[in-house]
Amino acid sequence: MALNFILSIALILSCIYMFYRIQFFEDKKLVDSDFFQAFMMTSISILLLLVPINLGTVTLSFFYIPILFLLLYNTFGYKLLSTGIVFVVYYFIFDNDLIQFFIFLGLVILFFLIVPFIRTPKMTILVVSNFIFTGLYLVMLHLFVAPISLNAGFLFVIFSSLATFLASLFYTDIQNLIRLYKQVEEEKFFDPLTKLGNIKTMDTHLDEMFLKSDSMSILLIDIDNFKLINDLQGFESGDRLIKQLADLLKNHVPTGGTLFRNTGEEFSIVLGDLNFDSTVRLAEGIRKSVELTKFHVNESQVINMTVSIGIGFVDTKESTRKDLVKIADSMLFAAKKQGQNRVMFAPIG
Ligand code: GH3
Ligand code: MG
Ligand code: MG
Repeated sequence: MALNFILSIALILSCIYMFYRIQFFEDKKLVDSDFFQAFMMTSISILLLLVPINLGTVTLSFFYIPILFLLLYNTFGYKLLSTGIVFVVYYFIFDNDLIQFFIFLGLVILFFLIVPFIRTPKMTILVVSNFIFTGLYLVMLHLFVAPISLNAGFLFVIFSSLATFLASLFYTDIQNLIRLYKQVEEEKFFDPLTKLGNIKTMDTHLDEMFLKSDSMSILLIDIDNFKLINDLQGFESGDRLIKQLADLLKNHVPTGGTLFRNTGEEFSIVLGDLNFDSTVRLAEGIRKSVELTKFHVNESQVINMTVSIGIGFVDTKESTRKDLVKIADSMLFAAKKQGQNRVMFAPIG
């Protein structure tokens, strides 16, 4: 009996891991859909039917633990479907006892009605639910199927709770790891503070835009004396200011243009087929708008900031992405050198 308890727990844990691992290999991304979860839990439930635990007079298994998971985490349709599939395997393939299953089904319906209304962290509900579920299940089996000894029943409840606790811990840990993995993947391309694309994304975007545009414009927008602001107000306030500037810039990006956060306090706007005059007007509009805006350092204090903007403008037949960024960079440098809070561009022609 003890061996089968351990085997059941090992089966649950290794299956949860294997399912996520296989999913990862298949898609190169982690899909955590309701279907995936239902498929995993139904499979585990069926596998658990292969590990019967003999309680002397009745034989039971941990097949119901994955179903409890679904009761808590999944949608109505999948709860129903999974229970149905498990029943088919339970009765028609493994030829198990029908009365036992009906008792289980009665409890599932009871829990299905109660569990969604409980507002506690899910792991606690799961372990407590399992404890109550298993207790009631054994009492009903004891009353309607065959008497179960107190010792065997007690051991079963303990191991079932342990299995649920470990499975829940393992499952939530994997979920958290997935969330972290997704976050890291996203941060390769997006800045978490402003949700804007980073410099890597900008390069890819520029390459794509070069192929489909006759001319390309870029505005490199850099906050003036931001180091000083940061030193005076603190790094956290600095972040808040960067975020506010990003929001202001978002409102200025014309249709077809894209805003990126290149580095700490430097942004860029990439535009395809916007003529030179309009590009300069856009930059000047942004510069002025920043100058007039009051930025909130905290709830009670506001400050003014200014930006310097370097413009790059090229004909895509004659120049490359690197040329474009190089021009804008040198224009930004010139704007800073000439006293900041200004737009600089190289005359064309
Ligand atoms: P300039 O007018 O020449 O651009 O001067 P500056 O002080 O703005 O430029 P500098 O490059 O010397 O300093 C930029 C500062 O921006 C350095 C750092 O303190 C700050 N910074 C960079 N990234 C972040 C960030 O993510 N958050 C915050 N709060 N500050 C940042
Ligand atoms: Mg700066
Ligand atoms: Mg800078």
